[in-house]
Amino acid sequence: MTSTPQPISPLGKTRDGFADACAAHGHSPHPARAAYTRFFRERDHDALPACAAAKIAPIVNRLDETCEEGVTTKFVQRLDRPGTGRLADQGVPHLDIESVIIPMLGRTGRKTHTLCVSSQVGCAMGCGFCETAQMGLVRSLSASEIVGQWWAARELLIEEAGGAGAPPVFETHHTPNNQTGGTPVPPSDVPPKIDNIVFMGMGEPLDNLDEVLAAVACLADHTGPGMPMSAITISTVGRVDGLRRLIDVVQQTGWKRLGLALSVNAPNDEIRDQIMPLNKKWGMGELREVMLDLVAVRGSRKILFEYVLIPGVNDAHEHAIELARWLQPFVRTQSRGHIGMLNVIPYNPRRDSPWPAPSEESVEAFVGWLRAEGIFAKRRRTKGRTQMAACGQLGAPDIRKRNYTPVTTNQTVG
Ligand code: SF4
Repeated sequence: MTSTPQPISPLGKTRDGFADACAAHGHSPHPARAAYTRFFRERDHDALPACAAAKIAPIVNRLDETCEEGVTTKFVQRLDRPGTGRLADQGVPHLDIESVIIPMLGRTGRKTHTLCVSSQVGCAMGCGFCETAQMGLVRSLSASEIVGQWWAARELLIEEAGGAGAPPVFETHHTPNNQTGGTPVPPSDVPPKIDNIVFMGMGEPLDNLDEVLAAVACLADHTGPGMPMSAITISTVGRVDGLRRLIDVVQQTGWKRLGLALSVNAPNDEIRDQIMPLNKKWGMGELREVMLDLVAVRGSRKILFEYVLIPGVNDAHEHAIELARWLQPFVRTQSRGHIGMLNVIPYNPRRDSPWPAPSEESVEAFVGWLRAEGIFAKRRRTKGRTQMAACGQLGAPDIRKRNYTPVTTNQTVG
């Protein structure tokens, strides 16, 4: 019995990758290239050749929280049911992906939208402050499923703007190299769109690096989604092997401006070992070395450091001083400005959290102590906390409650 070949999805592929895959199925690559652009620009599924189809997981739930800049929206996409096999045997009812659209006000006062995407269902890293960690790793997402989150978010924004019109990705990201052209339109006519993407949702992106890089290549394809590479940020808790791979990646043409963020979360190995098990494998010394190697190949592009401030764990004055010492090589030098910037994130309690959220005063004090040590530090505004949509709060309670046995892969650090 011969099995039917799976349709080729343009999601998660560059235009050339899609054309090559279609050519391997006997379709001429030239129309496939045009179809790819029409699909992304006009949201036209019918443009795709017969060998191709784009499956976008349906949105089954959304939760909104209003803030000063607009509405933070957490939305849930449902993947295929587990069907039979290990997941079904363990009573996992369905697999969901969670993503968050966060409104921001840009420097010019223009409203922008940042999309926080997931790279895995669950996560194997086991960070003590994180809701996703409670699920364990269920499975990694494909590049197509990652780009599918961007597609779904864009649809939500277009729907909210009350328009079925074509999204403006090409108009606003038009570059001289854009071979497909595109008509610039005045900013006032531009409906809301996704301006930035951060890999800070469920999962550790460097634990699924091949698919994450394929998704980034697609998102940044100027004939496809057209996101500028500088608007995409991969955030990691510090998989040193993955960071070493990124040293090569960011030296490739077009990748230098990829954004990078590192969750430090502790001033020393002792505390980091307690809240981030990965630190037992790659300690803070090795981590700093690899980050400096990355700085050496990335030029003046800043690295974003993140620090989840947890009351009674890492929020004392001496912790700020110790952290500032660790960050010293990333502070302002004579030849260039600050190489690193630190975001202090007030802890967002996960379900059954042993710690409360920090007080405003303690957050302000911690930021002040860091600044006094010469660190370019900012406090990150909390958004989405009431809907479990804030940083560190994504995760499916269904899977958590069932005591699901997490998968272990050879990619995953034990
Ligand atoms: S903080 Fe990130 S890496 Fe750590 S468990 Fe949560 S999702 Fe995984």
